[in-house]
Amino acid sequence: MTTHKDLIDRDRKVTFHASTHLRDFAHGDAPGRVITGGKGIKIVDKDGREFIDGFAGLYCVNIGYGRSEVAEAIYQQALEMSYYHTYVGHSNEPQIALSEKILELAGPGMSKVYYGMSGSDANETQLKIVRYYNNVLGRPQKKKVISRMRGYHGSGIASGSLTGLKAFHDHFDLPIETIRHTEAPYYYHRAAEQEGMTEREFSKHCAAKLEEMILSEGPDTVAAFIGEPVLGTGGIVPPPEGYWDEIQAVLAKYDVLLIADEVVCGFGRTGSDFGSHHYGIKPDLITIAKGLTSAYQPLSGVIVGDRVWEVLEQGTGEYGPIGHGWTYSGHALGCAAGLANLAIIEREGLTANAAETGAYLQERMKAAFADHPVVGQVRGVGMMAALEFSADPAVRRHFDPSLKVGPRMSAAALEEDLIARAMPQGDILGFAPPLTTTREEVDEIVARTERAVNKVTDALT
Ligand code: PLP
Repeated sequence: MTTHKDLIDRDRKVTFHASTHLRDFAHGDAPGRVITGGKGIKIVDKDGREFIDGFAGLYCVNIGYGRSEVAEAIYQQALEMSYYHTYVGHSNEPQIALSEKILELAGPGMSKVYYGMSGSDANETQLKIVRYYNNVLGRPQKKKVISRMRGYHGSGIASGSLTGLKAFHDHFDLPIETIRHTEAPYYYHRAAEQEGMTEREFSKHCAAKLEEMILSEGPDTVAAFIGEPVLGTGGIVPPPEGYWDEIQAVLAKYDVLLIADEVVCGFGRTGSDFGSHHYGIKPDLITIAKGLTSAYQPLSGVIVGDRVWEVLEQGTGEYGPIGHGWTYSGHALGCAAGLANLAIIEREGLTANAAETGAYLQERMKAAFADHPVVGQVRGVGMMAALEFSADPAVRRHFDPSLKVGPRMSAAALEEDLIARAMPQGDILGFAPPLTTTREEVDEIVARTERAVNKVTDALT
């Protein structure tokens, strides 16, 4: 019988893993794990060890694991017609139905959906659309895109440039020339530096910094602004009060398009269909992935708003068919998975559950950790939460990074058979369980987290 160790040993020889210490893994000095199954909010490894997945994979398995209904939909579609390209007007039935459903959920002002396979490639499409849009409008110099420090938008050359995290730039010569990063909407960090600034004032400050950047670059060179409604990988940070209103006012003033990256927030995670609805954001373009299929198939999309669509139409009128396309755009199996997934979200009221049970998650996390000696902030919205650790919460002093407090907290949680993610920048433990999570499961997540955090705290003090 093939053991877990056999599989990991084989894997070390042949696979290049994402976000992994390549040398340590290849030479047996970093752990591996082979996942063999999952049900509900739990996954199981090759040894039969079960974990609560408090991060839903990479905040993507919104409907939970082991949904045979989605597997069945993929299977039936594969029997009927697994693939044909969607170039030059070709389509497939699940693509048409899925686009209708996405546009219905997105609400007024949204016109068409273009599909990809990942959040990164969808953001590449966004950048191409933005360039094309301004070329058609005769503004070839209006090309720069402003993102935010700590934003996460993927890890390609362009999408990785949009990302505002150091580890995704260093040694890759990123960001590319046309991308800029403005201040992160991270009130907890800012307030530490400037005592007394209210959240609302901080939002105004972020908008003022954005305006300053637009003016110093030249408004006629700034094409778009991209942001996640809630900062995800940058630390799971809900926006400070009034942030999006302030930002949108600046963008409107300088005719800058707004791209909402809803890869994490879309399809229920905040407790609303889209994070944009939750925070009153009116984007011109929306990026979707993850919760679109709950990761049962790789599928992403760009939702194009009316204002941009009109210009794209005008452009093809002038230049001919658009020079953009992926072989797998609108893949029938992905679209079938998306339809089955969205049907489950709707039928089981999972968005409402993310709001209700999500509020319970926030409440329980606050009750357990608000006064904890090494927790500086407990934050979150809907079914996502974070604990930010601090050496001295009263003055928000960070731990020495060499102590690796975040990764140690995550490792201690794993010892409790709980997956909670050490976020890549700062000592932050992130939670984003499936939207199916019940109150009893929240209690279990919080209880395991308490044991893990207390264990590391004892070792630190
Ligand atoms: N945008 C956001 C907000 C994300 O969180 C991610 C991935 O976590 C991406 C884009 C990139 O998606 P992918 O990893 O599918 O390329």
